[in-house]
Amino acid sequence: MKLILLGAPGAGKGTQSEFIVDKYGIPALSTGEILRAAVKNGTPVGLKAKSYMDAGALVPDDVIIDVIKERMGEPDAAKGFILDGVPRTVAQAEALEKMGVEIDLVLDIEVSDENIIERLSGRRVCEKCGATYHTLFKPSQVPEVCDRCGGRLIIRKDDEPETIKARLATYHEQTEPLVDFYRQRDKLVEIEGSYSVEKTRDRIDEVLGALPK
Ligand code: AMP
Repeated sequence: MKLILLGAPGAGKGTQSEFIVDKYGIPALSTGEILRAAVKNGTPVGLKAKSYMDAGALVPDDVIIDVIKERMGEPDAAKGFILDGVPRTVAQAEALEKMGVEIDLVLDIEVSDENIIERLSGRRVCEKCGATYHTLFKPSQVPEVCDRCGGRLIIRKDDEPETIKARLATYHEQTEPLVDFYRQRDKLVEIEGSYSVEKTRDRIDEVLGALPK
């Protein structure tokens, strides 16, 4: 099973992909996570990506295409995967097609901008293991402390209010055209994402359950 999760930043792609990983046993390949690790470790990719990420802009397509190509080549991705946060431009989607990656389904999680702003401003992430939380919707058991590893929970730099606005603008300009791109290829399923995590998850489960085995 090869899936793409599409949707604005904060639409719930990360949260829903965790559920798909658990239930279907395929890995989630998140360019955002790979890039954050690269920045933290000061690798050449990290050095290239940092300024774009801090500004809420997209990292150049050639960098992303190399990153995702390498990640898809790892053994755990051989049987299938969920792409979380990639492709984010038509050029990236075309690059996947050129690589011969055959996508079964694209789940577009739809949430209004107002809702996105509320969600992103409460988002917290563990600085140690990268687990995500939300002050309102998914609080940790002990405030500011990761349930999974005990690390400290922080606000991602790109979740600061001004950056959130920039990321939304970037999404509408550069990523939203992918909705039509995949609709034309008959791959798109729209998922209402403004209700609860569970409701969105149930709908995704229903859609994936109906896929031919
Ligand atoms: P995310 O965690 O998916 O929201 O990604 C965080 C940041 O990493 C984004 O705001 C971009 O700056 C960068 N990024 C992640 N994935 C991509 C991508 N596919 N194309 C371009 N930039 C990306």
